[in-house]
Amino acid sequence: MNDEQLLRYSRHILLPEIGIEGQGKLIGSHALIIGAGGLGSPAALYLTASGVGTLTLCDNDTVDLTNLQRQILHRTASVGTNKVDSAKATLAEINPEVRVNSLKEKVESERLLELVANADVVLDCSDNFATRYALNRACIKLKKPLVSGAAIRFAGQVAVFDFRHEDSPCYHCLYPENSENEDTRCAEMGVFAPLVGIIGSLQAAEALKLLMEAGTTLNGKLLLIDALHSGLRTIKLSRDAKCPVCNSP
Ligand SMILES: [Zn+2]
Repeated sequence: MNDEQLLRYSRHILLPEIGIEGQGKLIGSHALIIGAGGLGSPAALYLTASGVGTLTLCDNDTVDLTNLQRQILHRTASVGTNKVDSAKATLAEINPEVRVNSLKEKVESERLLELVANADVVLDCSDNFATRYALNRACIKLKKPLVSGAAIRFAGQVAVFDFRHEDSPCYHCLYPENSENEDTRCAEMGVFAPLVGIIGSLQAAEALKLLMEAGTTLNGKLLLIDALHSGLRTIKLSRDAKCPVCNSP
C-alpha cells in the first residue's frame, strides 16, 4: 500500500479485526454484483469506498425517474442512460482506484458461470427469482460465497450461503423453485427508500467480512427486517436433505 492508500483506508486499518492485512485482502479481491438498483447501489458504493480492488457490476436496465427515490448510485441527470454507465461514473468519483467492469447485460447460464468463476464473492442484488436461482446454482457449482438480499414494501432480508463449506444450505433450500414464489415488483407493491439502503449495506458488510475472513457472517442464517415497526430477527436455516439443487453432484 502506498501513503495515499494508507490514509484513504486508515479508519479500516485502525480496526484490529481488519488492519493492514485485511485491507490488503480487500484491495486484492474481486466482487461480483448482480443488479445496480436499490440494493446494488449501497452495496457497490460501500465496496468501492472500502477499496475492494475489482468490482463487476451487471444490469441490463436504464435509469428511470421512478428509480431515484432509492437507487442512490444514480443522478437526475442520468435518467435515460444505462444503469451500469451511471453507476461507473458515480463510483469513479468516490474511489478511482477501484477497477469497475460495467456490463449492460442480462447474464444467464454460461456467461454467469464465467463471471462467478472470476469473483471472490457474489452479491445478489437482483429483483427476480429467475436470476436468484441461476446465481445460486452458479455459486454452488463453483463453491463461491453468495450474499443474497431482497426488499419489498417495508420488509427486507439478507442471507449468506458460503458454498466453500460443504454443508451450507442454499437459496433453493429456503425458497424451493416451482412453489408459490412469484416476483413481487417494487413497481406494483412499493418499497421504503431507506430499507433498500439498509439491506444493500448489510450485503456489503457481509461481503467485506467474507473477503477478509473477519468476524462472523450470516452464513446459514436469514436476517429479517421489518422497517415499519423496527423489528429485527435472525433465523437459522438448515439444509434441505431433499433439495435437488445443492444435493445434486
Ligand atoms: Zn439447497
